[in-house]
Amino acid sequence: MSDAAALPGQPRGGVLSGPATTRTVNVLAPNASAMTLDGTNTWIVAEPDSDLAVVIDPGPLDDTHLRAVIDTAERAGHRIALTLLTHGHPDHAEGAARFAELTRTEVRALDPALRLGDEGLTTGDVITTGGLELHVVPTPGHTADSLSFHLPADRAVLTGDTILGRGTTVVAHPDGRLGDYLDSLRRLRSLTVDDGVHTVLPGHGPVLEDAQGAVEFYLAHRAHRLAQVETAVEAGYRTASEVVAQVYADVDRSLWPAAELSVLAQLEYLSEHGLI
Ligand SMILES: [Zn+2]
Repeated sequence: MSDAAALPGQPRGGVLSGPATTRTVNVLAPNASAMTLDGTNTWIVAEPDSDLAVVIDPGPLDDTHLRAVIDTAERAGHRIALTLLTHGHPDHAEGAARFAELTRTEVRALDPALRLGDEGLTTGDVITTGGLELHVVPTPGHTADSLSFHLPADRAVLTGDTILGRGTTVVAHPDGRLGDYLDSLRRLRSLTVDDGVHTVLPGHGPVLEDAQGAVEFYLAHRAHRLAQVETAVEAGYRTASEVVAQVYADVDRSLWPAAELSVLAQLEYLSEHGLI
């Protein structure tokens, strides 16, 4: 379950593959599944008049996909100059080393183990490759190393698995923590309310044009699930699998192992806050 991402939720709509905003193009990886939705979104980000581009999340180790990303950038007049990772799950990062080899770029990520090259990524960094302005926003919770990238010129944020284009994400306990995740959602809400972000460019699923609505939905969903888990515990269901069977009864059983990670994260959160 190391590439766990999506749980069912409210369906939405938008761009799945191709140009999404002035500065972004999605190349959809061919790794569709219940957990990865339509597949991983590999984002090419570039100023339209620049010859340099940044790629976020090369995706799985699939040479055809990695070469399609390079071809797409080249057809738009860009040479890929830098590779960034939103987090280390294999559906986003497995192809990074091969992609770096094909493009002769460095790979920058929060987790030092994922980096190739001298530079890491930390809070407050601004990527300026080819005249871009791409702000690194820490959004732990899905995983401890999850980052988002704010692209003010397009009023957009690239969210990795922190917000998906469809459904809701897994808090991948024990690496992912619910308290961190809620803080991250509030940080993203502040980008929409205070910094004018309109568009979510997710790691899976379609582009969302109502960024604030998407964040509010995620916050409401998390609060709802948390209340359900608390109720289930009060009713005597103790183990994570018992709670999943109660709370996620409407969800396909193939997703229960992923749901169990989220339930473990919720049980930890409730216990830390003295609620159970
Ligand atoms: Zn992930």
